[in-house]
Amino acid sequence: TNFNDMGIKEDVLRGVYEYGFEKPSAIQQRAVMPILQGRDVIAQAQSGTGKTSMIALSVCQIVDTSSREVQALILSPTRELVSQTEKTIQAIGLHANIQAHACIGGKSVGEDIRKLENGVHVVSGTPGRVCDMIKRRSLRTRGIKLLILDESDEMLSRGFKDQIYDVYRYLPPDLQVCLVSATLPHEILEMTSKFMTEPVKILV
Ligand code: AMP
Repeated sequence: TNFNDMGIKEDVLRGVYEYGFEKPSAIQQRAVMPILQGRDVIAQAQSGTGKTSMIALSVCQIVDTSSREVQALILSPTRELVSQTEKTIQAIGLHANIQAHACIGGKSVGEDIRKLENGVHVVSGTPGRVCDMIKRRSLRTRGIKLLILDESDEMLSRGFKDQIYDVYRYLPPDLQVCLVSATLPHEILEMTSKFMTEPVKILV
């Protein structure tokens, strides 16, 4: 498969090629299509496989820029990964005018509130800060169609389980969920059965 054969919008495709990619990696070949078809997806994959770009590409394709609501939410365990995901979305989504914002602890809450009020299409964040912004009603969840849980095993080992469940409770009922994790311990499978419907399972 090629990026050209994946039904990706012209302006997003331009972002992918300008980012320097020629061909989709294995996870991109296998996970992007089911996500774009609206399926819930469990991807067992480690970093280095191209999972961040898989997430960015899927999100950029799914966002409708004619709306100013947040439509995709990505939760990650660390500030570094949150920023990397935000930057990858900004790069791939450059020509599609996709606005992404990183919500991470340690940065000013005022800045988050301002950015969110201006209208962003995608939020990448750590579970704690995202939960906080939702409870402050700065992050409106009504338009969210897609939730991505990245490095889910790592989020659980950092103690984010309750916050992930908390965030999930605020999201619309017809939500599409994609879970990425290097390992699939019992607690992750518990989350997948609670959050997901007939998920496609991909092992990279
Ligand atoms: P990740 O697993 O998302 O952290 O990506 C690992 C590295 O692979 C990053 O430096 C990406 O920029 C790079 N990468 C991801 N997808 C591709 C691709 N399709 N072609 C070439 N490099 C890629």
